[in-house]
Amino acid sequence: MDVTTRTMQASKHIALVAHDNCKSDLLRWVGEHKDKLANHTLYATGTTGHIIAKETGLTVNCMLSGPMGGDQQLGALIAEGKIDMMIFFWDPLNAVPHDPDVKALLRISAVWNVPVATNRASANFMISSPKLSEEVEIEIPDYQGYLDERLD
Ligand code: PGA
Repeated sequence: MDVTTRTMQASKHIALVAHDNCKSDLLRWVGEHKDKLANHTLYATGTTGHIIAKETGLTVNCMLSGPMGGDQQLGALIAEGKIDMMIFFWDPLNAVPHDPDVKALLRISAVWNVPVATNRASANFMISSPKLSEEVEIEIPDYQGYLDERLD
């Protein structure tokens, strides 16, 4: 597929998600990076977001809870180019009822070239990148070209 570009602003739109067994770890991580995260716009699935907002005082745009459609809401924002990066502490050791939604969220992030951290180490790399506070150009699929080809 042809590609085009999208500009991420210096202030990013960051999605935060954690499965139940990983919520305390994500909360701890957010606490460690609260000052940096406060410069960006935060989104999260319902339970994750409410816990973070309550415990850290950060403003979080909360979707529905993940199993009730929150993962899909974040996926829709990603497809619309409204999320710049995602920190998703998903649980590799336990099954979740909404596994198809989890896969869909990870898939759509890959489609739109959204940086995703799936654990503490990758999240640390991402949060310490100079690009976090800079304007960044990323490649994305050329949707108009894709559509034109299909309508040909
Ligand atoms: P939750 O959803 O933040 O509402 O628990 C997370 C998820 O499992 O996707």
